[in-house]
Amino acid sequence: MNKHFNKILFISFYLLCNLEANVQLIKKENNDSNTTLLVIAGIHGNEPGSYFAASILATHYNIKTKNLWVVPNLNKDSIRANKRGIHGDISRKFLTLKRNNPHKDIIEEIKKLILSKNVSLVLNLHDSHGFYRKEFQGSIFNPNAWGQTCVIDQCKLDQNQAFGNLNKIASTVKKNLNLNLLQKHHAFDVRNTKTKFEDEAMQLSLTYFAVTNNKPAFAIESSKNLSSLSQKVYYQLLAIEEFMNIMDIAFTRNFNLKEKSIQKIIQSYGEIRINDNIRLKLSNIKNKLSFVPIELGINKFKFTNLLGDIQKTKNKYFVFIGNKLVTTLKPQYFQIEKIVQKI
Ligand SMILES: [Zn+2]
Repeated sequence: MNKHFNKILFISFYLLCNLEANVQLIKKENNDSNTTLLVIAGIHGNEPGSYFAASILATHYNIKTKNLWVVPNLNKDSIRANKRGIHGDISRKFLTLKRNNPHKDIIEEIKKLILSKNVSLVLNLHDSHGFYRKEFQGSIFNPNAWGQTCVIDQCKLDQNQAFGNLNKIASTVKKNLNLNLLQKHHAFDVRNTKTKFEDEAMQLSLTYFAVTNNKPAFAIESSKNLSSLSQKVYYQLLAIEEFMNIMDIAFTRNFNLKEKSIQKIIQSYGEIRINDNIRLKLSNIKNKLSFVPIELGINKFKFTNLLGDIQKTKNKYFVFIGNKLVTTLKPQYFQIEKIVQKI
C-alpha cells in the first residue's frame, strides 16, 4: 500500500475548530514528480454531486504516481444551507473583490493554491441544470443547459504549456465518458464558453482566473436532473479519472465505480469526536440528542468524514455531512476546570 494512502488512513479524524484554515486541502503526494492535479469542489453549496465526489476522491483513492490535491468543500456555509451562495456567488468574485467581502479570505487562499507552481491542471466541479445539447430539444435538453458538460473557456493556452490544448483534452474526456454512460441521454459534450470574447460573467470565474494565468483549467458539470446523488458522483469521478489518465497519474480505488457502491459510501457518515472524549457514530444516529456534554468555551469537533461540519446556534449544535443535516445536539454545558477539581 502506498505510504501516502497510509497517511490518510491514520489521520482519519479531521479537526474542525476555530484554528482551521479557511480552505480545507487534502494532499496525496509522491516525491517523484511536480505534476499535480488540483480538484476544487463545493464552490456552490447546492451542488452535492461536486462535493461528495471530491470527498470520496480524497478518502477512497490511492495515488501511486504524481500528485493529487483536493479541496472538497470550498463554500462551507453555503453547503450547510444547501444554497448556491449565501453571501453571493463565489464563482463571480475572481476578477475583483472588495476588501470587506465575506469571501475575501477563501478567494485569496484558493487563488494562491491555483497559482502554486506545483499545480499543473485545475478541475472545478459543479452540478448544473438540464442536459446540454447544441440543438434545442425542450426545456431540459437545449443549448442553454449546462449539465453533462466539460467546460472550457477557450481552445488553447500558450503553445508550450503542458496540458494547454484544452479543447483536445476536453474532447478526449467527453469521448471516454460517453463509453460509460448509465443511460443514453446522459451523454456528455464539450462546452466552450469563449469567455474572453463572448461571456462577461465567466470572466469573473475561477477557471478564467486560472487560464488567464496560463494554468489549464476545466469545469465538470454533472446534471442536476440525474435521478440520484450517486449518479452525479459517478459521472464526476469518471471524469476525474479520465483527467488522471491524461496526466499519467496512476491510481487505485477501494470500491467499484458503480452506483450502488457509491451510494453506500455517501451514506457512511462516519463518526464525530467531541473534545477528544465523546465519540458518536453518525450513520443511523437519532435526529436529536439531548444532554450532550459540551464545554462553555471553545470546543473541538473532529469528523472522520471530510464533509463533516457544525453549525452553532444559541442552544443547539447542528451536525452536517455536506448539505445533509445528520443530527441536532442539545448541549449540557460545563466548565472543564470544575470537573478537574472534583476528580
Ligand atoms: Zn455551480
